[in-house]
Amino acid sequence: MKIAIIGGGIAGLTAAIAFQKAGYTPVDFEAAETVKPVGAGLGLAANAIKALEKLGIKNKVVEKGRVLSSFTIKDEKDKTITYTDSLKVSREYGIDNFTIHRAALHEVLLAQIPNVQLYTGKKCTGCMVQENNIQVLFKDGSSFDTDYLIVADGIHSPVRQKLVPGSVPRFAGYTCWRAVVDNTALKINNSYEIWGSKGRFGAVPLAGNQLYWFATVNSTANNTHFKNFTLSNLKAWFEEYPPKTAAILSYTSDDALIWNDIIDLKPISKYAFGNVLLIGDAAHATTPNMGQGACQAIEDTAVLYDELLKGGELSTAFLRFEKRRLKRTHFITNQSARIGKIAQATHPLMIKARNALFRSLPGSIKDKQLKKLYHTDF
Ligand SMILES: Cc1cc2nc3c(=O)[nH]c(=O)nc-3n(C[C@H](O)[C@H](O)[C@H](O)COP(=O)(O)OP(=O)(O)OC[C@H]3O[C@@H](n4cnc5c(N)ncnc54)[C@H](O)[C@@H]3O)c2cc1C
Repeated sequence: MKIAIIGGGIAGLTAAIAFQKAGYTPVDFEAAETVKPVGAGLGLAANAIKALEKLGIKNKVVEKGRVLSSFTIKDEKDKTITYTDSLKVSREYGIDNFTIHRAALHEVLLAQIPNVQLYTGKKCTGCMVQENNIQVLFKDGSSFDTDYLIVADGIHSPVRQKLVPGSVPRFAGYTCWRAVVDNTALKINNSYEIWGSKGRFGAVPLAGNQLYWFATVNSTANNTHFKNFTLSNLKAWFEEYPPKTAAILSYTSDDALIWNDIIDLKPISKYAFGNVLLIGDAAHATTPNMGQGACQAIEDTAVLYDELLKGGELSTAFLRFEKRRLKRTHFITNQSARIGKIAQATHPLMIKARNALFRSLPGSIKDKQLKKLYHTDF
């Protein structure tokens, strides 16, 4: 039985781990010449850690991560809007939230699949579903015949766009910069995000004395003005934010800066198409406002693993997967898009009303929201 995975990102690599653990030997095709993680830091919330535990790799991942002890949302005068004690959440759910450098996560995932053949430089352009198999097509003119296809090639997936016409990424209305810097002198020990009139600026400590920061600013799509922003432009843009903002930017080198527009995918109604299954961002890309995109990709593969263990036809397992995953992934995408709109407000009256509302929210509402987030499909 041949199983091919398209994409060597978090979804593709964890899917390879899930298949391997369930007794299958998949092959993986990655477009990049080397499997190199693009990005900076990542939050791995308790739900993702639970999924990694199911896949048998929790300890290896958390060894490279750092426990997220709290998360504070502040206004631009550095006054708290909301405070989440993540350790309290951990005590309740018996599992911690972590932060990790994307490169460290990839390294761990890659090390778990020594027997999976990973072909790089193989950009998939589409697939032909034939009577007895699926022919996967590549940009270099080659093809690969497989019985089953796992599509994990991210938000721009050409296979998804063919299976679900019109499922093109949508622009969220804001653009983002991020980087990882040395935290030795900065000494920032708690994660926070500032919601201000010029956008958001957040910082998240990582293991090994590193700090991940991100900034989001309202924009039009692919705006060249922002695309050409340097660190000094960012410093000027955020000059009225608390002084640690300028300090973090001063410790960042221009070549460490990653810029991209924030995009997501309007929820689609199907992930399973016979012997083809969409997972990760290829199926349900979300904005990063809840820090759940990669977490949901990892949850996908934990659920897939569960279904593989039940045996029977893989196409039936794919359908059961879809049934278990649609509602939750749709909720995350929609809720995250809503949070983004609220967090990116720039009108002073809107900001005032929002901050007052969030400050007055009873703890029980916040607890209910977290409970929903951490209640996984497995
Ligand atoms: C600013 C920002 C911050 C984020 N923060 C968090 C966070 O804190 N926590 C969290 O859980 N998530 C976060 N996310 C989301 C997270 O990055 C994604 O959800 C996650 O990377 C999805 O993994 P994936 O493997 O499905 O897709 P991708 O990461 O997009 O990986 C797809 C892989 O497929 C390859 N590929 C692409 N096209 C092809 C092709 N045609 N053929 C073959 N291979 C192909 C790519 O090279 C890549 O290796 C954030 C996202 C952004 C933009």
